[in-house]
Amino acid sequence: MGFCLGVRRAVGTLEDAVNFDDSEVYTLGPIIHNPQVVSDFESRGVKTVESPDDVPSDCRVIIRAHGIPLQLKEELKLRGSRIMDGTCPKVIASQKTVRKYASLGYHTVIVGDPDHGEIRGLAGYADHPIVISSPEEAEKLTLSGPVMVIGQTTIKQDEYDKVCRVLEQKCEQLKIVESICSATSKRQEALVDLCKRVDACLIIGGRDSANTQRLYMTARETGIPCWHIQDASEIPGKIGDFEVIGLSAGASTPDSVILAVERRLQSM
Ligand code: SF4
Repeated sequence: MGFCLGVRRAVGTLEDAVNFDDSEVYTLGPIIHNPQVVSDFESRGVKTVESPDDVPSDCRVIIRAHGIPLQLKEELKLRGSRIMDGTCPKVIASQKTVRKYASLGYHTVIVGDPDHGEIRGLAGYADHPIVISSPEEAEKLTLSGPVMVIGQTTIKQDEYDKVCRVLEQKCEQLKIVESICSATSKRQEALVDLCKRVDACLIIGGRDSANTQRLYMTARETGIPCWHIQDASEIPGKIGDFEVIGLSAGASTPDSVILAVERRLQSM
């Protein structure tokens, strides 16, 4: 549990930018999906904006772990922004793959949450990509010619596999890309194992963090009582009814937040 490679890199990039010189520092969207980390940087002067229009020229712009569409990156360069790229290497690999197959004439199908930053960024690397989030949506597609399918790095493997099985029936030529991040899948496997050995479980992480939400869903599916909390202040009083408590945390949850939850539980 705790920061994955991509989150650690994005936060490190922003830390470097803040310490570099006196330039104003902006992030396009929150640097990671964790409110404590975002507000800590905001208290040190970092501004979070949603559009390049809100970024003055000649300042530093940090690209977050989920990446941004290619077009936005070009817009920022044209405006004279000094870009420091904190995109996770695994997300960069997905972006390159989408671009490669789009240039080879493949239609792009992306499986994930259409409102998630990673998916909006990924979609910007193909022409007219289709974004779906379930096998039911895949059933409704009409596809012709070569098709490439790729998933959000934090999607559950079995959800992705189900969509791919549907697409296989619909496409004459289908390229299935395996892009799910092992930091996500290993955590889910470890959590299932943990849930067999505890009476209840707490999943710690930002409310908007996709991988934290999926960990919570995974814990719920095991059938034991579980809660998704953002920090120690949200520990439910009912947790005192259970003897052995399991803890897991999303890839964007700082160690300090996890430790504070652990300490509070021990004091209870
Ligand atoms: S979960 Fe995986 S893909 Fe997402 S930021 Fe972390 S290392 Fe990168």
